[in-house]
Amino acid sequence: MAYKITLVPGDGTGPELAEVTAKVIEATGVKIDWEIAHAGVDIMEKEGTPLPESTLKSIAKNKIALKGPITTPIGTGFRSVNVAIRKELDLYSCLRPCKTYAGVKSKYNNIDLVVVRENTEDLYAGVEFPENSSEANQIIDISKGKIRKESAISIKPFSVFGCKRIVEFAFDYAVKNGRKKVTAVSKANIMKCTDGLFYRVAREVAKEYEGKIEYEERLIDNMCMQLVQKPELYDVIALPNLYGDILSDLCAGLVGGLGVAPGANLGNDCAVFEAVHGSAPKYKGLNKVNPTALILSGKLMLDYLGETEAASRLEKAVSEVIEEKKQVTYDLGGNAGTKEMGQAIIDKLK
Ligand code: NAD
Repeated sequence: MAYKITLVPGDGTGPELAEVTAKVIEATGVKIDWEIAHAGVDIMEKEGTPLPESTLKSIAKNKIALKGPITTPIGTGFRSVNVAIRKELDLYSCLRPCKTYAGVKSKYNNIDLVVVRENTEDLYAGVEFPENSSEANQIIDISKGKIRKESAISIKPFSVFGCKRIVEFAFDYAVKNGRKKVTAVSKANIMKCTDGLFYRVAREVAKEYEGKIEYEERLIDNMCMQLVQKPELYDVIALPNLYGDILSDLCAGLVGGLGVAPGANLGNDCAVFEAVHGSAPKYKGLNKVNPTALILSGKLMLDYLGETEAASRLEKAVSEVIEEKKQVTYDLGGNAGTKEMGQAIIDKLK
């Protein structure tokens, strides 16, 4: 029986990437009945909302989606659709594996780490007050001189519940995937309440895995330097939302850039797979950008479905095409288009 999966093409370069990725996934032989559902700038123009209710309903019903990137215009009232999907469906865990593939230009050749980012709390909670608002002024009063007048304020909530479930996810992932170590990352020396809570909860969770999975802590600034100098020391890295967002791009850079960095947003019974990169709007419709990140997100999706053999074949096909360097996109040093690179991967799967 075919799996029913929601396909959200997204906007910018999203639709062309989604089209190629769907074809590549089908070429593994796994039967999929795609349900197309739209979100982003293009549907906003037609329906007046960037995230139609029907799209959320489709993902909630099928419990699994593959999603192209979606633009978040800067400085407008338009809230991030990506953040909204994660929040609405309580996809609290963002999984971003970073692995070096032969043939990808990178300063490193031995990286195989996984970033686990909390997806629902932190400064992304969307609790923000503009300068001179009554709410901001109330907080300024409470701060007793610590916050200047006319400050805009964003609130950074961390809950025991939110910290516990993300760290537990990281440890469970480590156990299930034969990983050895979880590194919790925070800035608890400065933010003793929020980041301090992250560490306190992580230490409690780590005790339950003693003897099975090693546990360590790093401050976020030190972690950035460590990753650049000795990335091979790290295995599974668990972080709150904002640090996780930034560190995943850093890790993508370590393994050759956004074009090859896949991701998954996972909740208790729902999952949305998407690349780390954004909609790269300047390349829209040019058949230019690299489909690898979304295709490897599809590989994560096949693993999630239990189609592990197809997932391994797909990863092997992708890595062979990259290594051969004949049909790869500009960012990998080639001049193939999105479609041609996708076709080369399909040819390997035949
Ligand atoms: P971006 O990731 O879209 O692109 C930055 C640059 O990275 C591009 O100009 C391109 O040079 C390169 N790049 C990205 N994807 C590539 C690919 N597949 N192949 C080759 N090169 C690639 O980042 P941005 O320009 O900061 O963001 C554009 C929009 O995407 C913004 O509105 C942002 O909010 C949104 N965004 C969406 C998501 C998501 O949908 N999950 C994630 C990040 C950013």
